[in-house]
Amino acid sequence: MQRPFNFSAGPATIAPEVLAQAAAEMLDWPDASGRHSGMGVMEMSHRGKEFQSIYEQAEADLRELLAIPSNFKILFMQGGGLAENAIVPLNLSALRTNAGAQGVADFVVTGSWSDKSQKEARKFSQVNIAANSQADGFTNIPDASTWKLSTQASYVHLCTNETINGVEYHALPDLKALGSDAALVIDFSSHVASRTVDWNRVGLAFGGAQKNLGPAGLTLVVVREDLLGHAMSICPSAFDYKIVADNQSMYNTPPTYSIYIAGLIFQWLKRQGGVAAIEARNIAKAKLLYDAIDGSGFYVNKVHPDCRSRMNVPFFLHNESHNDAFLTGAKAARLLQLKGHKSVGGMRASIYNAMPMEGVVALVNYMREFERTHG
Ligand SMILES: *Cc1c(COP(=O)(O)O)cnc(C)c1O
Repeated sequence: MQRPFNFSAGPATIAPEVLAQAAAEMLDWPDASGRHSGMGVMEMSHRGKEFQSIYEQAEADLRELLAIPSNFKILFMQGGGLAENAIVPLNLSALRTNAGAQGVADFVVTGSWSDKSQKEARKFSQVNIAANSQADGFTNIPDASTWKLSTQASYVHLCTNETINGVEYHALPDLKALGSDAALVIDFSSHVASRTVDWNRVGLAFGGAQKNLGPAGLTLVVVREDLLGHAMSICPSAFDYKIVADNQSMYNTPPTYSIYIAGLIFQWLKRQGGVAAIEARNIAKAKLLYDAIDGSGFYVNKVHPDCRSRMNVPFFLHNESHNDAFLTGAKAARLLQLKGHKSVGGMRASIYNAMPMEGVVALVNYMREFERTHG
């Protein structure tokens, strides 16, 4: 029997083929030629040849999928997106001062995640808020031409997909053209691998894995080589990007099982046709859902159409007294985890890479039927 469709914002749904393969290999992982290791992946030394081959394949597949240039390092870390809110300033804020001193970082605040990031960065750097859309209820992205970038900033931080507010950048800013020499840092936790990335504009990208890349516990960092080696002297060694890079992410034990599952997801993505193909599917899925919301007098999404997220779609029932009935009926229709984030309310459908078009069709059909019976 087909599993229910799971719209969780994270940890989120994973393609059933990936889970089935992991289950089949749980007790005894076979290598690519089918030779049995006699061990599950969780039980392997991270330095043994079996896990090394898993690691190298995952890294190579990710580099290919995201077209990551050779002058960028791929780091597999721990701590999640929230730890990166501290790790990034510890590594980058002193780029333009010296390793002991705090530097300046610019933040564009477009939702809950970028707001959390700037608050954490204040512990390790001076923070300049270049723009903030809070007054608009985080429903838009202030035009880059209006950003008040600081001339001393080491980096500019954006959250390129605001998971809670449903706001996504559909193009990255060209900081040089805006008069800034800073490196662009993007938190791409909740839309990594859902679309192509313009690496010419990026200095560092980070993301937790549990939205689009697999289980919690793995944090991906992609960093341009010239940004390594500038960490503040108080930066913990395990979080110093240069030390992590020099040790191929094995300065300490990496999250081996999460890397293995992410690797299976990278291979699944390649079978889907790669990131450009999945992006086309994501565009079609998002259009179907937004069109259904906009075309009804019953549901509403408040985000400005040109920055609506393809991954996270918050929506409200005009008559909020129907919220509980909507969620109960959704569960009965095998549509799970649609409740909105507590800070926003309403509903949220997260439609990551692993959500098939049939899941969105089922959701839209349910929404129409609910409107017919409650409208
Ligand atoms: C989920 C998420 C995070 C936080 O990740 P944790 O792994 O919980 O620390 C950070 N940023 C964004 C945009 C997210 O969606």
